[in-house]
Amino acid sequence: MSFHAKLSHDGYIYTKHDGLVQGLRTYGVIQPETKIRDADAGKVWDAVIIGGGYTGLIAARDLVKAGKETLLLEARDRIGGRTWSAEVDGTTYEMGGTWVSHVHGRLFAEMQRYGLKDDVQMTRTDGGGCSYFTLDTGTGSRKLSLEDAGAMTQRAWKLFMNYDGLDGRKLCPLPYSTLGNSRVSFEEVQAVDQMSCRDRINQIKDQLSADELALLESLVPHMCAGTVEDVGYLEMLRAQALQGFCPETFEEVWTLYKIREGQSALARRIFDDAVRLGLQYSFNSPIKSIIDRHGVVSLGTTTDNSTYNPLRPPLSPLRQEAMRIGHLNHLTKVHAEVEGDLRGLRGCTWPGDLLYVYGDGFCAGNKSTRIISFAGDNRGKLDPLKEPERLEIALQRFHPMKIKKVLFHDWLSDPYSQSGPAWYRTGYLTKYLAELQKRHGNVLMANSDWASGWRAFIEGAMEQGALAADTVMNEIGILGANPSSDPERDARL
Ligand SMILES: Cc1cc2nc3c(=O)[nH]c(=O)nc-3n(C[C@H](O)[C@H](O)[C@H](O)COP(=O)(O)OP(=O)(O)OC[C@H]3O[C@@H](n4cnc5c(N)ncnc54)[C@H](O)[C@@H]3O)c2cc1C
Repeated sequence: MSFHAKLSHDGYIYTKHDGLVQGLRTYGVIQPETKIRDADAGKVWDAVIIGGGYTGLIAARDLVKAGKETLLLEARDRIGGRTWSAEVDGTTYEMGGTWVSHVHGRLFAEMQRYGLKDDVQMTRTDGGGCSYFTLDTGTGSRKLSLEDAGAMTQRAWKLFMNYDGLDGRKLCPLPYSTLGNSRVSFEEVQAVDQMSCRDRINQIKDQLSADELALLESLVPHMCAGTVEDVGYLEMLRAQALQGFCPETFEEVWTLYKIREGQSALARRIFDDAVRLGLQYSFNSPIKSIIDRHGVVSLGTTTDNSTYNPLRPPLSPLRQEAMRIGHLNHLTKVHAEVEGDLRGLRGCTWPGDLLYVYGDGFCAGNKSTRIISFAGDNRGKLDPLKEPERLEIALQRFHPMKIKKVLFHDWLSDPYSQSGPAWYRTGYLTKYLAELQKRHGNVLMANSDWASGWRAFIEGAMEQGALAADTVMNEIGILGANPSSDPERDARL
């Protein structure tokens, strides 16, 4: 590992001794923050990318690889967006996107390309300390074996998912083509899109025990941080179709494997590769206006109040409506370092300030454990910035523990994310998805939140970045068809 973790503005650490402190170290911070050659300042670029999340990083790398003159502008001081790892006292903490799976083909291809495909570790440690599942559904806390809790969750999940009698194959045979395809009409999809997760639970609840029902009612908000009443069932069905119509693989696809060095180590490799190939960039550069005039797009980083009109031409009324409604994911993800061996810890508290907990391996030195926990939508109930000590209380509900520190990124108050990865309410996808995916003149709208495949995953970001880069290359020419005026860079290529 040749990277040096530098202090970012992002992330928080809470200890009883020091209280809440903002800013954690990460390999994602890029310094100096700007690299734009004097000769290139103010020129017309082949492509300007707004945002250095995985979507932007993949687009940037693919474009410079094809010889396109590309500028990356990022509002934060770091790359990675909603996926970044903090380095604290020798331990890596994934503050956002974390788990990887073999069904995420583009992501694994990137891990392979940068030598990380075998460099994975598991969140759960078989036989680690406290290897049991705490189930606390409001009527008291019980300890179950991991096997019993797993079997209960799986039975409930399988019933929930088997809407069409074929584990989703009938309704979602081609999960990248959700809005209708050669086997299912748009109207059939639209009918299911009107159904909430609560509607589906109501269809099967007579077949569930009280514990199974509680596990299901808490698992849905754990996945998408919306309520079962609001979250559309279609997206759940589609996620299962993407994982091979196989409810049994849920945990190994969603919550098992991580990149050992952390996601920021992968993001950094992609970024460094792009810089080596000629990418220029500026961090701490929030874009405030985008104007497309006769196909040439200008970006502004300041707000002029007298004439402020952030996007010209304006977005379509349908897209504006979609953006006003937004999505439902308002999650909180919390890490803690706790004394001793809790690597096997699992649990669910429902209802509760935190929903699920996972032991996540030893911290550096092997004397304390890293644990992760997730809350659903806690807006108006618990603000970690105002009451960080309540996170400790909520963690104690899973198991008595001596907490050394608590770490988190407050995705909700973060102006450049405003929430977690997108999960949508009933009826949203069939009404707005196609519009969200459309380009806006010469502005391409790429983001994992409206990917066709693994929406709301790192994989979806990589899909969107690659597609956007491809569109640019198709329109302005691929390598060789559009030679640059920079012999130095051509020599490097
Ligand atoms: C807590 C959490 C847990 C997750 N867990 C997983 C997981 O386990 N596995 C998984 O695959 N996925 C997971 N995800 C989802 C995954 O992290 C995201 O889908 C993915 O990182 C989104 O990438 P993106 O590039 O599309 O968007 P972003 O990462 O949001 O990137 C957008 C970038 O644009 C920048 N930006 C925004 N506005 C401006 C502006 N005006 N000017 C300049 N720059 C701007 C932002 O700072 C950001 O860097 C998780 C996400 C969160 C938050």
